[in-house]
Amino acid sequence: MKFGTKAIHAGIEPDPTTGAIMTPIYQTSTYVQESPGKHKGYEYARTQNPTRTVLQNNLAALENGKHGICYSSGLGATDAILKLFKPGDEIIASNDLYGGTYRIMVRVFQEFGLTFKFVGLDDPANLEAAITPATKMVWIETPTNPLLRLVDIAAISAITKRHTIQLVVDNTFASPYLQNPLDLGADIVMHSVTKYLGGHSDTVMGAIILNDDETAQRLAFIQNACGAVPGPQDCFLVLRGIKTLHVRMQRHCENAMKVARYLQQHPKVSQVHYPGLESHVGNELAKTQMRDFGGMLSFELKGDSMPEAVRVMESFEVFSLGESLGGVESLCTHPASMTHASIPKEERERNGLKDTLIRLSVGIEDVDDLIQDLEQAIGRL
Ligand SMILES: *Cc1c(COP(=O)(O)O)cnc(C)c1O
Repeated sequence: MKFGTKAIHAGIEPDPTTGAIMTPIYQTSTYVQESPGKHKGYEYARTQNPTRTVLQNNLAALENGKHGICYSSGLGATDAILKLFKPGDEIIASNDLYGGTYRIMVRVFQEFGLTFKFVGLDDPANLEAAITPATKMVWIETPTNPLLRLVDIAAISAITKRHTIQLVVDNTFASPYLQNPLDLGADIVMHSVTKYLGGHSDTVMGAIILNDDETAQRLAFIQNACGAVPGPQDCFLVLRGIKTLHVRMQRHCENAMKVARYLQQHPKVSQVHYPGLESHVGNELAKTQMRDFGGMLSFELKGDSMPEAVRVMESFEVFSLGESLGGVESLCTHPASMTHASIPKEERERNGLKDTLIRLSVGIEDVDDLIQDLEQAIGRL
């Protein structure tokens, strides 16, 4: 089955009692048993819920994986993965991580005795040098936030396989439509389903997809034992969202490319970070690793004036200022004062994050209106 057909059909059967084509929302906490232990495979809704089961199977199919497991948020999924390890285990992560991932690693799991090393993994040679006998897992994101840098999944997985270390890829920015890390050698794919998979800015959810039966069993155990499960209503909303994932992603990519090209020639813009541009450092890798270039981009204004960047964002009429990404509506954020404000300015700039950087999640509106909005907002400077 090809991607668009899987998005609509994989793991989804009409409801056996009524023939309803949409998966019912099984809004129940428990299931009636005939006699103790004699039941239809469902006992209690933290452990199992039919709406969730259908979504988990659908997600597994989209990532070409065997097992899908959903959690109540992306960070709930990350939390479950980190609970696979024990004190003394070391995890190497790219130094360009989603802030919440960095925070749960350093502020929560470091307290429990896991150790973390943050390394620039856009050069795989840095990984080889960082591995020690205690290293148990490598965690990467690609493309990264907010500079859209690319990490070579196949090259990193060749190294982790040689050292029998697990490789986790946070595939949130690409979505399974653009990139399937398991096919490139990753062991575990993690998603903030909140973003492109849900796609309508109405649900917070996370997911893990993997092939290994034993690790899947441990993760399902953690899902039930620790309890970060999504509710059936949210599972239904995500199933509904996924039915248009391929169509939405096509338009996200098309719009983002046009917006990137528009910004690239703008006299007040100094740099555009979009993997689809020939000028982007990851362009060649993006062409082989991804099927298209995605809906996320960032750009810098000329000069070094944070107030000017803020003024542009305040002037937008179609782009909304807000955290998150991947919904049908276009959003903008100012990483220096929002997501990355806790990092000192000097260190931000060392990592290439300027005060005038604006990040866009390009939505699926009419692209002419998006470009006109950028034109009027930047034009006011
Ligand atoms: C949003 C996000 C997360 C966290 O997911 P939540 O659903 O907000 O818990 C993790 N990684 C990336 C890349 C994200 O964008």
